[in-house]
Amino acid sequence: MIYTHQNITKNIDESCDVCVVGSGAGGAVVAKELAEAGLSVIILEEGSHYTTEDFRTTDTIDSIIKLYRDGASTVAFGKPNVMLAEGRCVGGSTTINGGMCWRTPEKILKRWQWEKGLPDLTPKKMDFFFERVEEMIGVSPVLPEARNQDAEILKRGAEKLGYRVKANLRASRACVGTNQCVTGCPTGGKQSTLVTYIPAFLKAGGIIFTNCRVKKVRISGSRAHGVKGIIIDPTTKQKKFKVKIRSKVTVICGGAIQTPFLLKRSHLPDDSKMLGRNLMLHPNTKVIGLFDEPVYGWKGVNQAYQVTEFFDEGIIMGVNFLPPGILSLAFPFYGPGFLEMMKEIYNHCVAGAALIEDTSSGQVHCAPFDQALATYRLNQADFNKALRAVALLSEIYFAAGARTVFLPFAPLHQINTIDEIRKIYEYKLKPVDLELMTVHMMGTCQMGTNPQKSVINPYGECHRVKGLYVADASVFPTSIGVNPQLTIMALATRTAFHIAENFAKYTQ
Ligand SMILES: Cc1cc2nc3c(=O)[nH]c(=O)nc-3n(C[C@H](O)[C@H](O)[C@H](O)COP(=O)(O)OP(=O)(O)OC[C@H]3O[C@@H](n4cnc5c(N)ncnc54)[C@H](O)[C@@H]3O)c2cc1C
Ligand code: SF4
Repeated sequence: MIYTHQNITKNIDESCDVCVVGSGAGGAVVAKELAEAGLSVIILEEGSHYTTEDFRTTDTIDSIIKLYRDGASTVAFGKPNVMLAEGRCVGGSTTINGGMCWRTPEKILKRWQWEKGLPDLTPKKMDFFFERVEEMIGVSPVLPEARNQDAEILKRGAEKLGYRVKANLRASRACVGTNQCVTGCPTGGKQSTLVTYIPAFLKAGGIIFTNCRVKKVRISGSRAHGVKGIIIDPTTKQKKFKVKIRSKVTVICGGAIQTPFLLKRSHLPDDSKMLGRNLMLHPNTKVIGLFDEPVYGWKGVNQAYQVTEFFDEGIIMGVNFLPPGILSLAFPFYGPGFLEMMKEIYNHCVAGAALIEDTSSGQVHCAPFDQALATYRLNQADFNKALRAVALLSEIYFAAGARTVFLPFAPLHQINTIDEIRKIYEYKLKPVDLELMTVHMMGTCQMGTNPQKSVINPYGECHRVKGLYVADASVFPTSIGVNPQLTIMALATRTAFHIAENFAKYTQ
């Protein structure tokens, strides 16, 4: 059963076995697995519930306002600031993501085993959890007929230079390549949790209260007892009713920004002082190639290929179709002249980005007016990696025949030949000159065995509070260098199995 602000008519005071906060990659998975294990489970989700039919619109701005937190206008402050986007709707960020799915790389799992004291996270032991998720969300290679022209151009350039390119694995069944993944899939082809785990959860008897912002975890001594929240009308922002849930186990899955914010406001005891710290972002550098040939990026799937040649250096590259209003933000121009220019060049542009496996970190703070505030300090090593990623992507575009490449640097907007790539190094650019964005926030409640160095134990339970778990992107001890949803979902499955096996101890 799904309750919304429209059909809730009084304050809510409910009891259940497990209360899950958030319905994205982590929350939907934990909730479905535990409901199917026979426990009574309630999900509280701050966003609204939309269906596949609701996504049959071309009004990008309206979709972004409805589906993203603060209309996707959030920032991690630093030098440079990093634009960040979080989903806020049933399905969380999986409803609006690209659907790319890669298992946690072995090099990362080894780092977690050896350096972070998580010996159980071997590829062999994780295999069962990856397979279970992959089966559920239909992880499969992009079909040749769904690949789009901008991705073919990326592949053409990379292969000319001898760089390794991989067809992407995506969570999809019968994707027809409409390229609207980031504003909600209008066919149901993308296998977000909205169309996979959530229906299975409801079938198993689960309950969701939407438009419910959880304000506090109820902690007394070393035990969690549920949460308190509020039902908010998403249009008027009016607070309508109070929510109190009493649960034996509470699982927080609000994402790597909102989860530490909620736990900090709930005064979670934390010996490590790491709650909210260790924020990693996979910073993305946007680079645009302008081609003489027409490029219809909107025909075909989002990111059909990734260039993985530089994965060991912590760089992967792909191209992404961007609607006109969003692509225009990437140019250093404005006014009526720019509008004319956009009309001329839009169907000749390839917009790509490089994802950096970061070693920098940031922090989530509690700001006034019930707001989380993120800060991030880009270190020199990651800045150098970003410069190299921009240079490599420019090289690929020129090899594919680009006439101009637009760069994400304030003092150096544009280069016109492959030889000019050296300017990226000659200009003595500083981090503050760089434009960065991210959709992969991680690490703010990191997992570990040592309570002095980590917030949660290897199964996601808070070291100092029994019955309180975290199962979302915040549990990562380090950055992972690939799209994170499959790692989040596999770890959430593992956490759910652990809770189900040990549930009896929470009933005493
Ligand atoms: C545009 C975009 C494209 C992406 N593309 C990819 C991709 O192709 N592949 C990939 O692997 N990853 C991708 N990602 C990232 C991926 O979707 C996220 O890393 C993942 O969904 C995070 O899972 P999560 O459970 O941590 O949080 P989310 O999936 O974001 O879910 C958190 C949920 O918790 C809710 N919530 C938060 N706080 C509260 C509260 N206090 N009370 C109640 N509810 C609350 C939120 O409303 C939200 O619905 C993309 C993300 C975006 C935004
Ligand atoms: S490209 Fe495929 S997955 Fe993406 S919105 Fe279109 S049909 Fe859905």
